[in-house]
Amino acid sequence: MQHSQLLQIARDFQAPIYVYDSAKIQSQYFRLVSAFGKVANLQINYAVKANSNISILKLFKSIGSGLDTVSLQEVQLGLHAGFSPEKIIYTPNGVSFEEIEEVAHLGVQINIDNLSVLEHFGAKYPEIPVCVRINPHVMAGGNANISVGHIDSKFGISVHQLPHILRIVENTNMHINGIHMHTGSDILDIEVFLYAAEILFDAAKHFPNLDFIDFGSGFKVPYKKDDIETDIEELGKKLSKRFNAFCKEYGKDLTLAFEPGKYLVSEAGYFLAEVNVVKQTTSTVFAQINSGFNHLIRPMFYGSSHEILNISNPKGKERFYSVTGYICETDTFATNRRIAEIKEGDILCFKNAGAYCFTMASNYNSRLKPAEVLWHENEAILIRNHETIDDILRNQVAFNFENSTIV
Ligand SMILES: *Cc1c(COP(=O)(O)O)cnc(C)c1O
Repeated sequence: MQHSQLLQIARDFQAPIYVYDSAKIQSQYFRLVSAFGKVANLQINYAVKANSNISILKLFKSIGSGLDTVSLQEVQLGLHAGFSPEKIIYTPNGVSFEEIEEVAHLGVQINIDNLSVLEHFGAKYPEIPVCVRINPHVMAGGNANISVGHIDSKFGISVHQLPHILRIVENTNMHINGIHMHTGSDILDIEVFLYAAEILFDAAKHFPNLDFIDFGSGFKVPYKKDDIETDIEELGKKLSKRFNAFCKEYGKDLTLAFEPGKYLVSEAGYFLAEVNVVKQTTSTVFAQINSGFNHLIRPMFYGSSHEILNISNPKGKERFYSVTGYICETDTFATNRRIAEIKEGDILCFKNAGAYCFTMASNYNSRLKPAEVLWHENEAILIRNHETIDDILRNQVAFNFENSTIV
């Protein structure tokens, strides 16, 4: 999107605000589809937790995507957005058995990630097909919080426990229709991914009734110019070839599934905030915006580095700034960052704000969550209102101490 378009949105709808470019979401989706063009059956399930706005979900529905969900509530949002249950896969971790049952009864594909639930579910519902989440124990992922395939991870059933899985399947006569892995976010090395895929193929041979193999996600997107990213085209070429060979060996055209979140929506998103104060101290210049980690927690939480542009003065002379928020706690977005000269009232634009940004926003400091806008066919469409104080008070119960008899 152009700076002038973003600036106009900040003026019309008021910063702080999230903006998503529908064209970028679509082009990422179709880039992945064409990278795997040689696979007969491809299924992309967008990971709802990256950005769960109902209009974003409807956009994915309109382009043929399915959904990957991790909670009952994400399933409910997907159904509300008009997805049929067969287009939704549910991959929970550590949730109650009752929640899994409830989702299964909605007709959604269940993906089980521990032996205890597998045994219980298989015994109770042998007729409901389930997918099994395997942990291949491959170290992938950008940092410890987002790497989920390693040996200490709480995710998936260890590939070393395959004999136990098979025993449960045999004893319960349950139907395993898919096998799955998700090794973590920000995978750079395609070879590591392909190595994990081999482990999954080996496991898949033991299940005669599969319909699909789900390779999860974890594709890395660029955060700045010349940044490294997962080479989707190269992965598509290599994995498709290997997958097609496996299907031949297996004797059936299986569906190859992916469930990307960040890859599909990260770069489509912009976060716009206004500079409240430019504060010169003895050591630095702070640009303080009308936001904080309550709206965008990734820099503080993961140490992620979002590019920041001053779209009010894009051609201005670059100076060094520490960009911080208004939260009464350290909330640093960037330190010693070169940004075009900032004046109070300028609008700063944070890039890569489409994934894990609004969905992680909170009301800390009793601040209101920002609005969201979809930029679609050259039009800015409001897809979430700014909150009001009523939203903060909605579920609170005010106990009236004046009427209390025990004083
Ligand atoms: C979070 C998650 C994803 C999406 O990961 P990205 O890095 O955003 O692509 C996919 N599958 C599962 C099971 C997840 O938990």
